[in-house]
Amino acid sequence: MRVGVVGAGFSGTAVAVHLLAGLPAGSRVDLFERDARCGRGLAYGTSCPSHWLNVPAGGLALDPQQPEGFVLWLQQRFPGFAGGDFVPRMLLGQYLADELAAAEAAGRSRGVSLQRHRCEVLDLERDDEGYRVCGPGAPATTLDRLVLATGHLPPRPPVWPGADWQQPGFVADPGAAGWLDTVEREAELLVLGSGLSAVDVVLALQDRGHRGAITLLSRRGQWPQAHRDLADRPDPGASPAPLPDWSGLNRVRPMMRTLRQAAAEAAARGCDWRDVMARLRPEIPAAWQRLGERERRQFLRHVQPWWDSHRHRVAPGIAARLAALRASGLLHSAAGRLRQTEHRADGRIELLWDARGGGPARMTVDRVINCTGTSTDLRGGGSPLLARLHAKGWLQADPLGLGLQIDADLSVPGQAGLFYIGPMLKARDWEAIAIPELRVHALRLAGALAGAVPAVTPTRSSPAACC
Ligand SMILES: Cc1cc2nc3c(=O)[nH]c(=O)nc-3n(C[C@H](O)[C@H](O)[C@H](O)COP(=O)(O)OP(=O)(O)OC[C@H]3O[C@@H](n4cnc5c(N)ncnc54)[C@H](O)[C@@H]3O)c2cc1C
Repeated sequence: MRVGVVGAGFSGTAVAVHLLAGLPAGSRVDLFERDARCGRGLAYGTSCPSHWLNVPAGGLALDPQQPEGFVLWLQQRFPGFAGGDFVPRMLLGQYLADELAAAEAAGRSRGVSLQRHRCEVLDLERDDEGYRVCGPGAPATTLDRLVLATGHLPPRPPVWPGADWQQPGFVADPGAAGWLDTVEREAELLVLGSGLSAVDVVLALQDRGHRGAITLLSRRGQWPQAHRDLADRPDPGASPAPLPDWSGLNRVRPMMRTLRQAAAEAAARGCDWRDVMARLRPEIPAAWQRLGERERRQFLRHVQPWWDSHRHRVAPGIAARLAALRASGLLHSAAGRLRQTEHRADGRIELLWDARGGGPARMTVDRVINCTGTSTDLRGGGSPLLARLHAKGWLQADPLGLGLQIDADLSVPGQAGLFYIGPMLKARDWEAIAIPELRVHALRLAGALAGAVPAVTPTRSSPAACC
């Protein structure tokens, strides 16, 4: 059996590791990655030491069957670390690369090989023999099965009348190389978005000694909530937080009402809303699948800013740094929408924006940086491969731009032998972009490909770490 995996971020690496352990002798895994390093992907390829994981290390092993894996790896190198610690993201990238190397060696010893190809896959071809990948430097190899693990799309910059992200002073993709080094230390900055991407940018700027004011502008002006310190987390023996009863609910409003009630009950019992969110997490894919398109739109419009700030939290140490920056007057948040921008003769950028609940307001800055987060919307471009497969009718995009339409066994509908794993599962599950879910998908997909478990398995993840 020959299995191809396109993309070696967390998802592709996890699938490859399990395939190397599970495929029969004589099989081969071909891993295609456009970047030089495997195991990093967008999230774990950062070299900024202030970019921390947003959950404790104990919840982040590659293999859900060996949940201590990452902590053991850390402790071999940094004996002081424990499962409740938050650590820099780059360490997880190194751990994933090491896991792949170990799986490669173990696979070789039992007759399963890994071929790494550094190339960007731009298209796929298929005939009776199987799939072939196309792109500069791609090998002429026929694959029996192919897994797309191409990950995140670059952010879609917001639009307003006259918006032009190519102009000097505008940064459309903060993940692009080099722009940080061109920002003057005293520059006043407008960051669009106030989620984890914005936090990454603020911390990277602070590490470089930035002294200019930074304003985060977002729909509601909400900061990401913080995780609790280890000392404040509930005793594992304590009674669990209440679980909102979403069984049978197919509308957003009653779901949110029961969630608020459960949070209030949790507070009365000495735990808090974080415990409720953690218990709810495995239920979310099924609940999301019960919502029709209209209800999903309601959620995106009215609930998502609140949801994201409570669900995607920052480590306590990062929250403390942000609080100190705010107290110093260098970091502000504003709620509203950008309406117009204009370059002044002195090179600065004049902004007209509508404050939420207020009138038009003005601001003058040196740079505008788009931190609205990665995209799952194929219409925004960013992946020549996915765009090509979509144009050929092989991939179906979600009507709300949340990703791809993918079957329960992660197969691409109508394309025998083609599978997808990664953040584009958000369209199907909503809760699909983080390691606790992706690692379960990776294990099941690799198991199905190796013939070890039935192809169709439930998509529920294990309960998320309570933190
Ligand atoms: C900044 C950030 C921080 C996060 N922090 C956490 C966290 O703390 N905890 C947590 O649980 N989750 C976190 N997540 C979420 C989660 O871990 C990521 O969503 C996960 O890494 C997704 O991995 P992926 O492999 O699917 O995608 P990606 O990481 O995007 O990797 C995709 C890979 O495919 C390659 N690729 C793409 N197209 C091609 C092509 N055509 N040919 C060849 N190669 C290609 C890319 O170069 C890349 O290496 C974070 C996400 C982000 C973006």
